[in-house]
Amino acid sequence: MAEQKRDYYEVLGVDKNADDNTLKKAYRQLAKKYHPDMNPGDAEAEKKFKEASEAYAVLSDPEKRRQYDQFGHAAFDGSGGAGGFDFSGMDFSDIFGDIFGDFFGGGSSRRSNGPMKGQNVRARVNIKFEEAAFGCEKEIELVLKDECGTCHGTGAKPGTGKVTCGKCGGKGKIVTQTQSFFGVMQNVTTCPDCQGTGQVIKEKCTECHGTGYISRKKRIKVSIPAGIDNGQSVRIREKGEPGYNGGPRGDLLVEVRVAPHPIFQRSEYDIYSSAPISFAQAALGGEVMIDTLDGKVIYEVKAGTQTDTRIRLRGKGVPSLRDSSRRGDQYVTLVVQVPTALNAEAKEALRKFDDATGKTLKPGGTTVKEEKKKKGFMDKIKEAVDDL
Ligand SMILES: [Zn+2]
Ligand SMILES: [Zn+2]
Repeated sequence: MAEQKRDYYEVLGVDKNADDNTLKKAYRQLAKKYHPDMNPGDAEAEKKFKEASEAYAVLSDPEKRRQYDQFGHAAFDGSGGAGGFDFSGMDFSDIFGDIFGDFFGGGSSRRSNGPMKGQNVRARVNIKFEEAAFGCEKEIELVLKDECGTCHGTGAKPGTGKVTCGKCGGKGKIVTQTQSFFGVMQNVTTCPDCQGTGQVIKEKCTECHGTGYISRKKRIKVSIPAGIDNGQSVRIREKGEPGYNGGPRGDLLVEVRVAPHPIFQRSEYDIYSSAPISFAQAALGGEVMIDTLDGKVIYEVKAGTQTDTRIRLRGKGVPSLRDSSRRGDQYVTLVVQVPTALNAEAKEALRKFDDATGKTLKPGGTTVKEEKKKKGFMDKIKEAVDDL
């Protein structure tokens, strides 16, 4: 008895309105999972693979999809004999080029025989807050490959040449054929013995053991631009690993780690800090010294400055990475200090100050002294304590 055929949309696990991309994605996933090459000898996987392929073949073809949507599986009955579906005349090479291009080899990742840039190398450097702000020169040490001086990168012992690779016969690639549902498939892979060059060395260079490279510790100067921030990287061109076949070296990417500053915090190109001012300075106004990246500056505090007042020092921030003549601002929070450890003279002065200002400090209210004189101030405190 013939098996009931599953709905094509259900097979691919997509919605009836799925667009081409969704279909392709769904099929791609199933195909990878159930492809016979991935599941040798698994009949169930093969069945699923065929089912998904059939569903995709129909739904990815607008005309066939229209027919299927209208008539269901009956649309294709009788046209192809026993299987119920006729694949003859359908071009699967497009589908396979699309779906498996980067999966079963033969994609663009093959190593070419032409010059190729070397790999990039990453490194890190720790710098101070001020060094990030104004730029600096650093030297880092790292191990990098260099072309072997003895064999000049060929890996062959001097005087010995290269011979044609036995594995691929000099072609650089290996073609394998697999029998699949769609017929014979050709898979092209890079030859592992010669890495696609078609030639192998006869005798290895003793200096580099046939690798063509020698690793050495190197010191490299890094010029760190003003304005760089924590986590950003400096790219130094062609200081990475050597290239292939005469290609340029890769780049060196140096990530900058900026140490926190005891006084300054940074946000983009602005700097935030706080500065203590005395009670008298806050009340009377006057000059205060404020730390900036450029050293101490004098700032004129207004009389009657409240604690946590934020002031802006224009252009005292960090220079911009793009244009170091432009700088951010510095925002300073002025924190009024309550004096501690007063001597007798200072205490007396403060008492006098208190007497002189007692009323004005409590606008609309009364001073503690007046309150005391009134009645039962101590009683009030007792009441409050009893309530607890
Ligand atoms: Zn060598
Ligand atoms: Zn080969």
